[in-house]
Amino acid sequence: MDKPFAGDNMAGIRRSNRAAVLRCLQEKGNLSRKGLAAALGLTPAAMTKITAELLGEGLLQETPSAAAVGVGRREILLGLDPHARCALGVLLGLGRAILSGVWLDGSVLFAETVTLPPKAPAEETVADLSRRLMALVRESGVKRDRILGLGVAVRGILGADGRSVHRTFDALDAFDFPICDRFEAHTGMPVVLSNNVRALFAAELFLDRGRAADSQFFLRCDSGIGGALSIRGRIWEGEGRQCAEIGHIPAVRRGGRPCHCGKCGCLETVSSPTAILQAAKERLSPDRTPLLWAKRGTDLTFDDVLDAATRGDVGAREVVDRAVEYLAGALKAAVYLLDPGRIVLYGAAFDHPYFLSRLRAEMDVGVDERHEAPLVKSPFNGALEPKAAGLLMAARYLENGGVSV
Ligand SMILES: [Zn+2]
Repeated sequence: MDKPFAGDNMAGIRRSNRAAVLRCLQEKGNLSRKGLAAALGLTPAAMTKITAELLGEGLLQETPSAAAVGVGRREILLGLDPHARCALGVLLGLGRAILSGVWLDGSVLFAETVTLPPKAPAEETVADLSRRLMALVRESGVKRDRILGLGVAVRGILGADGRSVHRTFDALDAFDFPICDRFEAHTGMPVVLSNNVRALFAAELFLDRGRAADSQFFLRCDSGIGGALSIRGRIWEGEGRQCAEIGHIPAVRRGGRPCHCGKCGCLETVSSPTAILQAAKERLSPDRTPLLWAKRGTDLTFDDVLDAATRGDVGAREVVDRAVEYLAGALKAAVYLLDPGRIVLYGAAFDHPYFLSRLRAEMDVGVDERHEAPLVKSPFNGALEPKAAGLLMAARYLENGGVSV
């Protein structure tokens, strides 16, 4: 017998059983040992051993159930201790970064937004963000041995190695930048990396316990447009780590505006809130946009355009309706290609009833009922930015059986 192989195999089984217990409790909440054993198909003896180990490490906590199971007896439930460990996060976008710390349940320990210039110098920016992050850790008082490491969620396309960022679409000034190596050198902690939209979606899946196992399409419409795809609860990145880059689907055939990706006529150049605001400003006139015209001279915002459209401004409506038509066209293609269980909508744009109702109406145009994927606004809309990057590391830790990466 090859003992080293047998040893590895046992260690692997042990870790996968620990991971199953941790993920089951994270998704389902507190359970008894018996309930856990039944949910995971493990023997009571195996469950006793695994949970004793995790209790000893402080990852689980015991609580008596509310309901009595016999005279004077209450069932003991096991649950994750959310404050057993925490993870740090850096969400790096265009013009800003969010530095944060999160507990294992996604609750926020601290969060701070840092303003950055466009095309921020990569080396200096990572050094500065690391310094500030470690200062926040010290101010929070959290002990170093509780910190799992750092999750980095960055705008743009990751390198093939999954540890560098190929391009950030003007967030940083560098290409093929080894961002994990740099953050590790500055913080002394392990780093996991993701694209920012996929990180937001991963946080949604982590926190939305009831629907996490479905196949879903995630549409983020904030200043730009981004997408992400999950297949049976797992995010699909694609062969080139560019899956669901819906914002850069060619939308306008001729005369399209330049996109920051280098092409012209991308969906983002016509349907994003930034593009909608730009188009409305260009159309501004007393006749075409009378309600918006009344606000001339002020610093017009996307909210102003949506408010004007809601109140019946013809020009504002034309701009928004055109944008939504293009957006729905791309989304309908995604539905026919991917057959998702639902489309999760995330971003400030979906807080506007006019935008959301127009999108719902457009999604029904030309579609048979078998391809009507439900549009669901994220229950976490606007709240995932401080959580997403840190949760990358927290989720990795739980999937790894409570062993640091
Ligand atoms: Zn583009």
